[in-house]
Amino acid sequence: MPAYKNNLEVLIKQDSKQGIGLIDHEQTETFNQWKFRGGLISIYEENSVYYESNNPQANKKYLLKVTKQINQYEIMLHVIQPTFIVVKDIKSANGSQYPIIANSIIRLGRVEYRVIEERNKEMQITYAETRNQDQLQQNDTNKVYQCRFCFMEGIQSKDQLFLTNICRCVGNSQAVHLDCMRYWVDSNITREETQFGLSLKWNKSHECSICKESLPVRVQYENEYFDLFTLERPELQYILIENVNKEKNVYGEIYLIHALLQDNIKLGRGLQCDIKAQDITVSRHHATIKLSKDNYFVIEDNRSKFGTLVSINQICQIDCVACSLQIGKLLINLIQSDYILKGAPSTQHKLTQLPQISKQLEEDEPQMDDDSFQLENK
Ligand SMILES: [Zn+2]
Ligand SMILES: [Zn+2]
Repeated sequence: MPAYKNNLEVLIKQDSKQGIGLIDHEQTETFNQWKFRGGLISIYEENSVYYESNNPQANKKYLLKVTKQINQYEIMLHVIQPTFIVVKDIKSANGSQYPIIANSIIRLGRVEYRVIEERNKEMQITYAETRNQDQLQQNDTNKVYQCRFCFMEGIQSKDQLFLTNICRCVGNSQAVHLDCMRYWVDSNITREETQFGLSLKWNKSHECSICKESLPVRVQYENEYFDLFTLERPELQYILIENVNKEKNVYGEIYLIHALLQDNIKLGRGLQCDIKAQDITVSRHHATIKLSKDNYFVIEDNRSKFGTLVSINQICQIDCVACSLQIGKLLINLIQSDYILKGAPSTQHKLTQLPQISKQLEEDEPQMDDDSFQLENK
């Protein structure tokens, strides 16, 4: 049941440091802050100052609008940047966890993963959207292609797909059979069975050997999706996660996580982690993926320094007591509370919950646990 209270407090914190939207969640007390209260709020920005107005402000930058729906608040964001929910700040009946589904982007520090496929508990498969350049052109003109690997000629068809526009190569060297490409890609992948499913790790860059453009892991033709690698799916609920990190020296990784996982999955920089991310901005044990009680794959933060972030849509419903959103260098805390209403019962004691919630947030603030972690491991 969603948490719903009469008042929503919106607290905007802005990191004044130059940076790439990496917010140190231990240091947010020094940030510039703006506080808004009410059930219906429109917030504008003017020269990095935020204020509220219920009349349209033509010459101001619109940031967000809060509206009351039946029993929950709806937040509409007017930003073009990707928006993330800060997993550890979620306060709900289920604790601090967030579901990860097809198209979810997961950020641990600078490292980014994307859920590229999901089979839910009803066994329905959803694929993440492909980029425009990964959608193969349909062949209207019966154009004959020659595969640059096997030299066989043919026209584009579902049974014999040619990859035609996935890199910068043009002319005779552009086309290659999907099957030929897959055979070559598979030879560059190390597969390993894990406690949660399977990991596929590329041994070198996943790029075109001629033009060096990085290749997609999947293409779309008509309404079907085709992988450039071989992976047999289990007859189980699962998610497929791709490491989409653009850092140098990080080769492609894909993880198949199925519902028969033996244990919660640890993500982080430490040796004991199931999914390792070798980046200084990732904590040793940064986050955990598990199957929730109601059978969703969810992620939890493990007191990480830079937080565990999951992408959200521009319109989202707030169905928890408190949470925060991160947009670039902005942190937007949303906390539900009650007004003191004359004669209304029990608001007095409920009001006192508000400071408790913020105190709780403080107590949950991570200590930089890396050192203690080392000691623990000794
Ligand atoms: Zn071929
Ligand atoms: Zn190429």
